[in-house]
Amino acid sequence: MFCQLRTHLALPVLVFGLVALITGCTISSRVPLVLPSELEEEAKSQLDLAEQTLRNNTQLIADLAWPIVANNTPYCRNLVEYRNGIWIAHEERVPNSLMGMRSGSTAIVGKQSEIWGIAKDSPAGDSPLQLGDRIVGIGDQAVTNSKQARKLMRKTLAQSDGKPIKIVVARGSESIELELESVLTCRSNIRVTSNSSINATANGRSITINNGLIVFAESPEEIQFVIGHELAHNIASHVPKARAGAGIGLIFDIALAGYGRVWAGGVFSYFGVRAMSKRYEREADYLAMYYLANADVDLDDIESFWRRMASMDMRRTGFTLTHPATPERFIMMKKTREEIEAKRAKGQALVPETKRQKGDSRVEASAQ
Ligand SMILES: [Zn+2]
Repeated sequence: MFCQLRTHLALPVLVFGLVALITGCTISSRVPLVLPSELEEEAKSQLDLAEQTLRNNTQLIADLAWPIVANNTPYCRNLVEYRNGIWIAHEERVPNSLMGMRSGSTAIVGKQSEIWGIAKDSPAGDSPLQLGDRIVGIGDQAVTNSKQARKLMRKTLAQSDGKPIKIVVARGSESIELELESVLTCRSNIRVTSNSSINATANGRSITINNGLIVFAESPEEIQFVIGHELAHNIASHVPKARAGAGIGLIFDIALAGYGRVWAGGVFSYFGVRAMSKRYEREADYLAMYYLANADVDLDDIESFWRRMASMDMRRTGFTLTHPATPERFIMMKKTREEIEAKRAKGQALVPETKRQKGDSRVEASAQ
């Protein structure tokens, strides 16, 4: 980047730049040489570390997501499925060029069908399964990689009708076979991804939580709020609704690190969808609070998530193109928490209010 020429610069600078280009943009310091073999070794170490981060964060998400998906089935309409609390490894590919490696074309982490997460208080959490166990069989079928294992687990659970399923794992030279029970949960395929931006996304079927968001979160409850928010987008069918309204909506997000990168992947048009997407964000925040309350998550001061988000990037306070501004989100979450606390005090069921119950249309009228 130091060799780039910028067309708006004055002529002398341009000439200087051309001279710099001709002379090869050299440096005068003698920096250490890096041998290809050293590079290869260090790159492999860094990939191992990246994989370990994914393993650790997958276990964290398994523990935090389980109470939410297992305690909210009455509010997940027909979007429910049997789950046993196992989180299987997820493949991520890194071009070798990004690691400075020369050999091969792509480094892959998470290819083995290993167990990366075992949710506490789930059937798997109460079983002898351990992190790192490699799944080699589900039902009567053999398994060879993580992608196949995830697909077969989902299919076998869907066909099980809640009955225990056979799972075979390899642990070192040992082979362990067991019958694992499952429970009905809100439909959710939640994974962690190696991405440092403060973000999480939902695409209607699955949820992705970035490593960066886990680093940003100051408490387990904040991560649970994000999981609840993304789950709400999927459960409330925001993606198909947005797609019908705007034609191309595919992915919803919680909060982005990059100002202007509003919809993950740039797939969501600003055109025609601004007001709608704000409504979806408000509803996702609202429903998430109820999901957390029903999972017995401590909601005390959880709305401060939005204050901290704003404090990270002041522009976020005016980040209103497709998302409610952070001050609005803070206030709405605080009011939702108070609504839930009032119901608790009266011993009422923690059921989200609908517009008909509220009997008004002020929400949308006042907050566009
Ligand atoms: Zn969202």
